[in-house]
Amino acid sequence: HLSKLPNIETTIFTVMSGLANKHKAINLSQGFPNFKGDQKLIDLVSKAMNSGYNQYALMPGNMQLREAIAKKFDLLYGSSYHPESEITITAGATQAIYDVITAFVRADDEVIILKPAYDCYEPSIRINGGKPVSIQLEAPNYQVDWNEVAQKMSSKTKMIIINTPHNPSGTIFSEADMLKLQELTKNSNIIVLSDEVYEHIVFDGEKHQSVCLFPDLKSRSFITASFGKTFHNTGWKTGYCCAPKELMEEFQKIHQFNVFSVNHPVQKGLADYMQDPNTYLGLSEFFQAKRDLFLNLIKDSRFQFKPSQGTYFQVLDYSKITQEYDVDYAKRLTIENGLASIPLSVFNENKLDNKVLRFCFAKTDETLKQAADILNNI
Ligand code: PMP
Ligand code: GLN
Repeated sequence: HLSKLPNIETTIFTVMSGLANKHKAINLSQGFPNFKGDQKLIDLVSKAMNSGYNQYALMPGNMQLREAIAKKFDLLYGSSYHPESEITITAGATQAIYDVITAFVRADDEVIILKPAYDCYEPSIRINGGKPVSIQLEAPNYQVDWNEVAQKMSSKTKMIIINTPHNPSGTIFSEADMLKLQELTKNSNIIVLSDEVYEHIVFDGEKHQSVCLFPDLKSRSFITASFGKTFHNTGWKTGYCCAPKELMEEFQKIHQFNVFSVNHPVQKGLADYMQDPNTYLGLSEFFQAKRDLFLNLIKDSRFQFKPSQGTYFQVLDYSKITQEYDVDYAKRLTIENGLASIPLSVFNENKLDNKVLRFCFAKTDETLKQAADILNNI
């Protein structure tokens, strides 16, 4: 067999956005805003291009941007990452995740993932010969059973991947979750990959639990992050990752040959923009207003929900409406009702069908009202 990933199909994001476009449906499937980001940032990127930032950036990324990121960690978490040696700018969080896994996972190593899991983790593990070991997060609360994690840890466990706020469920880890993870990994060589792309989108006054707040956890962790999610420009595919120096050195061995460095004018524009921390501080309020608008509009519909605690996704349970397989229902909703979403079973190897769909509310109020009209009429 020639394929290294025989069981991997086209991602659900390509499938559902394609179907939405074909049927001119409202697209609440793939996670991206349908409004423009701040004009000031666009102007700063354009200025960077016009003032000569058009050749390779340094391998780990533009220094001014790494310094701005270090400042952010200090300001928000009182945690220090050295801009010289502990931060690397990447082509979105996706490339950072791939490189972290590639840098450490060898054939037959086990990697614990929490399902439903964002779809790029598992193929990245498998392409490196590793074995994903799944822990199920049960609907509707999607809480981690840390006893099960402890049972599934073994001498083969190389890495644990966590993601808070969590895509697709919209749940967040508590401090107790983080302490439990810290306790379980203490005195081990296990690496934690903490996917924190939604760190700035946490609702109802809750606090984002970054691994960097827990010193022992921080010492073994990579954080991956995405400017696309934070500044409403997913198409720029710019993100970063940070880790203690010895771990970052291994990461950069892969990064330098995978991509070497990423889009320089975008990095320079982001660096100038982030000089003002207010550019990323108001995001939770902004998206909470959208979540509240959307949920208020559909509160009398037949869809059941617990409000999202973070991310810009809301999951809706449709079991009162139909018992169809979630992938079939998501497609029918797109084709017949004109509204695209993401079925949750795709984050669970198409197996566990809880009759739940994920809707992205990073949309204009107008779009959210149109989507709510459709849901209310079902
Ligand atoms: N992790 C999660 C949980 C995501 O939702 C996404 C999508 N933004 C990514 C990683 C990838 O981020 P990026 O688009 O920056 O590659
Ligand atoms: N992260 C986005 C989501 O969960 C999509 C990213 C992609 O299209 N690969 O919808």
